[in-house]
Amino acid sequence: MLRQISDGKVKELVLVPARREVLVRYTDGRKATVPILINDQQVLRTAESAGVPLTVKDIRGDQAMAGLVGNVALILIVVLGLSFLLRRSAQVANRAMGFGRSQPRVKPQDDLTVRFEDVAGITEAKDELQEVVTFLREPESFIRLGAKIPRGVLLVGPPGTGKTLLAKAIAGEAGVPFFSMAASEFVELFVGVGASRVRDLFRQAKDKSPCIVFIDEIDAVGRQRGAGIGGGNDEREQTLNQLLTEMDGFADNSGVILLAATNRADVLDTALMRPGRFDRRIYVDLPDRRGREAILSVHARSRPLDDGVDLSDWAIRTPGFSGADLANLLNEAAILTARDQVAAIGNAQIERALERITMGLTAAPLQDNAKKRLIAYHEIGHALVAALTPHAGKVDKVTLLPRSGGVGGFTRFWPDEEEIDSGLLTRASLKARLVVALGGRAAEMVVFGSGEVTQGASGDLQMVSQLAREMVTRFGFSELGPVALESGGNEVFLGRDLMNARPSYAESTGKAIDGQIRDLAKHALQQAVALLESRRSTMDQLVEALIAEETLHTERFMELAGLTSA
Ligand code: ADP
Repeated sequence: MLRQISDGKVKELVLVPARREVLVRYTDGRKATVPILINDQQVLRTAESAGVPLTVKDIRGDQAMAGLVGNVALILIVVLGLSFLLRRSAQVANRAMGFGRSQPRVKPQDDLTVRFEDVAGITEAKDELQEVVTFLREPESFIRLGAKIPRGVLLVGPPGTGKTLLAKAIAGEAGVPFFSMAASEFVELFVGVGASRVRDLFRQAKDKSPCIVFIDEIDAVGRQRGAGIGGGNDEREQTLNQLLTEMDGFADNSGVILLAATNRADVLDTALMRPGRFDRRIYVDLPDRRGREAILSVHARSRPLDDGVDLSDWAIRTPGFSGADLANLLNEAAILTARDQVAAIGNAQIERALERITMGLTAAPLQDNAKKRLIAYHEIGHALVAALTPHAGKVDKVTLLPRSGGVGGFTRFWPDEEEIDSGLLTRASLKARLVVALGGRAAEMVVFGSGEVTQGASGDLQMVSQLAREMVTRFGFSELGPVALESGGNEVFLGRDLMNARPSYAESTGKAIDGQIRDLAKHALQQAVALLESRRSTMDQLVEALIAEETLHTERFMELAGLTSA
């Protein structure tokens, strides 16, 4: 290469000491890289003498630069990655915290079409709430007189009695927006969300005032605080506290009226019931006979009824039905009518609908003769004993048409109107019920012998034990005297009642109670057996007729039994 330099063939030299090489550019345009020793003075000198321009290039700066860029890029990537991750988790957290705030669900219903005339059978409640409507319509007349309208009204009653309907009717009558929420919707997985939902609901309600806020099943949040086992439920209690605070925060007559529904007023926190909160309680009970008739006619308005249908008759036959049950009855009847392709709902369809609701769907008729005969004797036992016992209900029908759920047949009685209307039961009628309930077992004993009785009577026996226990421990209908030994009905409310659930009588009294219950049941069975034993042939006749006809109605039954229907 040195020779080439001195020969003048090289045009330029670039020395790169860091790489220990020389870039050679020849005069004919070629290029080449030639390695050199680090301190190669020879090249320098030769180039100098030949007059070839030589530059020394220091690339350490470039290298350092490249390293720096690489490092910066790495740091940037790490920082970006981290911030991405942070953002992601912040979004998740935001979404969690935003549960309470984003409330697309609470939307007021503005133009409700429900009116008071659509609510029937609960006249007292309706009258009480009339003044709320008047207030919402013309608040001035109340304010002028210095009257404060209740802020909270608690509607207490069994499910399906029309509490929601009533609240809607108030909003509809007054023409104000209606906010509705189930208390269980407040309670969430995250503590604090319920409270923020309550705030949100009230904020919206105040914006829209005057309005009605309806909280269904308030016992979901309004239960007594501190009544749970092992401490309370923080979230629920916070929600309740927030609710109480919001109610206190209302100015008087602010136009927001809170209605809440529950069927367990006994478990509610007393703080909820303080004046200024839910200080007004309205009981919405199951409708009585006249109420049922009114409810039936409300629901019959939109449905074509056959001329032969007497709604008061059906009101008598549906004791214990709530408004919702009655609405359902007519709806089922309408479905059956459509299926029958008849123009109007008739008695036959309502009858079938009633049985569907009370007894379940019909199942295939029994084929097995022996089994059918046994069931027939059992049912005839109930019916005949009832027909022969004073104070017992009148037989409506006995049938062998089975229902789903293992019911082989059943006997139905006419409800006693007097009893239903007054709600009072006499000792004699309760005793008669025991006898009738055991009529099935008695018939099996009389016909097949006590070794052949079946477990088919287990439902009857359960009913008998329960009724007899109530007669002894609650109604004072036994030799133990007029003492109430147990309090009625309410289920244990966790925590509070569990501690107090001990019986309030001595052990010996417990034994005496059991003895009395057994006596009542035994006597009833003996009475039923005695009644049937002397009428074996009547029973056989009735059973043959029942098997042949499958269903016996009042008149036919009485005729066959040789009794005049009175
Ligand atoms: P609750 O809130 O007491 O559980 P609802 O108000 O939701 O009962 O009642 C359910 C349905 O039953 C109503 O939509 C209505 O069709 C019917 N219903 C209940 N009670 C009555 C009543 N008193 N009058 C007319 N319809 C009723």
